[in-house]
Amino acid sequence: MADTVQRADTKWVYSFGGGGSDGDASLKNLLGGKGANLAEMASLGLPVPPGFTLTTEVCTAYYDLDRKYPDGLEAQVKEALSALETKTGKAFGDAANPLLVSVRSGARASMPGMMDTVLNLGLSEATVQGLAAKAGERFAYDSYRRFIQMYSNVVMGLGHDTFEYILDDYKERQDYHLDTDMMAADWKEIIGHYKAAVQSELGKPFPDDPMEQLWGAIGAVFGSWMNDRAILYRKLNDIPAEWGTAVNVQSMVFGNMGETSATGVAFTRDPSTGENTFYGEFLTNAQGEDVVAGIRTPAPISRARADELQSDEAPLEEVMPRVYQELVAVADKLEAHYCDMQDIEFTVEDGVLYMLQTRNGKRTAAAALKIAVEMAREGLISEQEAILRLEPGQLDQLLHPTIKPDAKRDVIVTGLPASPGAAVGQVVFDSDEAAHLAEAGRAVILVRVETSPEDIHGMHAARAIVTARGGMTSHAAVVARGMGRPCVCGAGSLQIDAEAGVFRVGGREIKKGEIITVDGAEGQVLFGEVDMQQPDLSGDFGLLMAWADKVRRLNVRTNAETPADVTVAKEFGAEGIGLCRTEHMFFDAERIPVVRSMILAGDKKGREAALEKLLPMQRSDFEAIFGIMGELPCTIRLLDPPLHEFMPHSDAEMEEVAASSGVDIKVLKAQADALHESNPMLGHRGCRLGITYPEIYAMQARAIFEAAVSVAKATGSKPVPEVMIPLVGTRKELDILKDVVDRSAKAVFTETGMELDYLVGTMIELPRAALQAGEIAHTAEFFSFGTNDLTQTTLGISRDDAGRFLTAYEHQGIYEKDPFVTIDQDGVGELVKLAAERGRSTRDGIKLGICGEHGGDPASVIFCHNIGLDYVSCSPYRVPIARLAAAHAALKEA
Ligand code: PEP
Ligand code: MG
Repeated sequence: MADTVQRADTKWVYSFGGGGSDGDASLKNLLGGKGANLAEMASLGLPVPPGFTLTTEVCTAYYDLDRKYPDGLEAQVKEALSALETKTGKAFGDAANPLLVSVRSGARASMPGMMDTVLNLGLSEATVQGLAAKAGERFAYDSYRRFIQMYSNVVMGLGHDTFEYILDDYKERQDYHLDTDMMAADWKEIIGHYKAAVQSELGKPFPDDPMEQLWGAIGAVFGSWMNDRAILYRKLNDIPAEWGTAVNVQSMVFGNMGETSATGVAFTRDPSTGENTFYGEFLTNAQGEDVVAGIRTPAPISRARADELQSDEAPLEEVMPRVYQELVAVADKLEAHYCDMQDIEFTVEDGVLYMLQTRNGKRTAAAALKIAVEMAREGLISEQEAILRLEPGQLDQLLHPTIKPDAKRDVIVTGLPASPGAAVGQVVFDSDEAAHLAEAGRAVILVRVETSPEDIHGMHAARAIVTARGGMTSHAAVVARGMGRPCVCGAGSLQIDAEAGVFRVGGREIKKGEIITVDGAEGQVLFGEVDMQQPDLSGDFGLLMAWADKVRRLNVRTNAETPADVTVAKEFGAEGIGLCRTEHMFFDAERIPVVRSMILAGDKKGREAALEKLLPMQRSDFEAIFGIMGELPCTIRLLDPPLHEFMPHSDAEMEEVAASSGVDIKVLKAQADALHESNPMLGHRGCRLGITYPEIYAMQARAIFEAAVSVAKATGSKPVPEVMIPLVGTRKELDILKDVVDRSAKAVFTETGMELDYLVGTMIELPRAALQAGEIAHTAEFFSFGTNDLTQTTLGISRDDAGRFLTAYEHQGIYEKDPFVTIDQDGVGELVKLAAERGRSTRDGIKLGICGEHGGDPASVIFCHNIGLDYVSCSPYRVPIARLAAAHAALKEA
């Protein structure tokens, strides 16, 4: 940036309006969003009050030069100001016909609330006379005192309360009740008090020179780029500091000059539903700030909207019909020009309409979907553009039941919107109780101070989860998102008294058993049962997903093992199973005793006897899966976790197991101790178990092939099993275990007289496996990247039971930013890419997929597309997200 400072001919200031603009919308990086769009609107011939923009480069130079302005800026501002005087026919600082301006920030990305606006700048003891002559004394002096307050606050750093105190005190002494009681003489007196307060509080006078005011305001805007609020906002939104902000200086128009003036905000389509209706609100006789401040409730803009809201207020359409028609025409023109829904700000000064801003409007996921599909239908954008209009991550909001947009909300408390969707249920404070009630068919909402792995069953049983503590990456948040449960976390003002069976908040008391509704998308907990709507996966959603499917190259599979999850995933468009974790099937209450007896068996014979009992259970699991998936490929992973995970943990559990299995408790404890892993993640697990106990893998493989054959015989469609070996590090391990699988297959095919195609492959989830991939591919017919383990082993961090990545510091109670990273950071992606290349060079066309959590992370999906993987696999609720992300990847590449 330093060289921009050096260039003598740099253009620092761009004019807009009054018959032409120096810039246009394409210069958003230089002029900021607001400045670029003001220039564009003016060029379109729309009524924009003229003005000029100091570029974002001025901001960068200002900081490079240690808070000094670059050469040439002052002259260019003067020049732009005099051009503005010519355009408006007014003069800055002129007592008879003063030019007044607003000064506003405007970065490349919108940063709402980063910096306040300064309005009415240019008012002084002299110029206030000119304004009075034009608009009346009372109006002029009211404007002047507002300006003093705003400028003193924004530029000079004096708090609002100083001024509010003076005003309240004055009104009390005069026995006035409303601001409208204040006459010109009153405001004049107030102005005297305000100025005296500035002098006494700050030790310097309020500036009376408009030029000094202008530079003060410009400096304040640039200075605000580095205030704490802005720095934090940028950090949270990934906005680089180098972007800088622009400053827009624009001639004032007054929406508060009486009943023929107004100000308002409008959207060209409904930003919450996406419906193609003109949407907005306005206030007569008000300035923009009044709409935001919420002192007066704005009125709806159109008759239709007023009817919808059952509002008694007259809409703009009726109050100013001609202005309304003009505004609708402007809105149509802007939307057609930008080919997107616009969020516009306007002011009406004495019956004349002015446009103050336009930008692409923020919208809910539902609105984004509807708008994208309808605009494509209207021919405004292409199908491909429509696909890109929807952020994959946003889709999450659409896949869960939601609260009806017009439902009445009685908000009990607001926390973080940790997991989207909405649910109704009765309040429960205990996880066991939640599980029991859910089993009895009750809808429950689990309310806890925070959750831990011991609450998993309660969270699973609950329709939604609420916590008082914890952020967006707390245990509750991560687990709830993974389970697809709505969750509000960190609702700090909740006081939970689980013993007494109540929580208290804001003077209310909610008892155990009372009905509440949780809106995870908004982070709200609502009283009672609120009206819900089910997600609609057909209609616009189905259409957009069909468009996405046409352009994507990556296949999308799912990580699932229960018939319910597999069915959901298939409805969401899963094209196969990328990971069936068979160990999850062993935790079933009926099976775990058999699993334990297998583990506790002293010899192979004992183990085989137990496995014999497990075989039909596993077979029926796989039959169900193959039955649902038909001829789509199903990757089934053989047993992965260390055996101690299946053993009882607490003393009570130990006793129970000892009693029911007839094993002496001492023996049981000794066995459990013997199985204890000092580092479970890297211990006796995965293929290492398979090598020690080949009979376990042989049983699982047999169950897979028997199930496949029986489904093939019953349905006529041929299942496609892909048997996957976990935690392989070297080719030798896979060689041994592929042989076990092949022998099971051969045996089953001989016994049944039916042969099916199948593959044997491996997870690549250790750095060693990635490095050895070229060797391993001699045996492996596919690779599936297990980036959960690969992330942990590459970054040297571990995961808690909920799958959340922990840093070493978290163990000490020091929390860092959520260490869940997208795949292409910190070496994980590099290892995946390298392994894919090495695998392919050994085995041309080797099937490559990913089944770690990254398979559902949009940025990681794009990475997987770019390195040429064949598919990504993710949890059922993320399947549509991955489909859309895969389409984005293909379109962005093209
Ligand atoms: C992985 O490690 O990425 C994986 C999918 O396996 P798991 O999460 O079951 O360890
Ligand atoms: Mg793993």
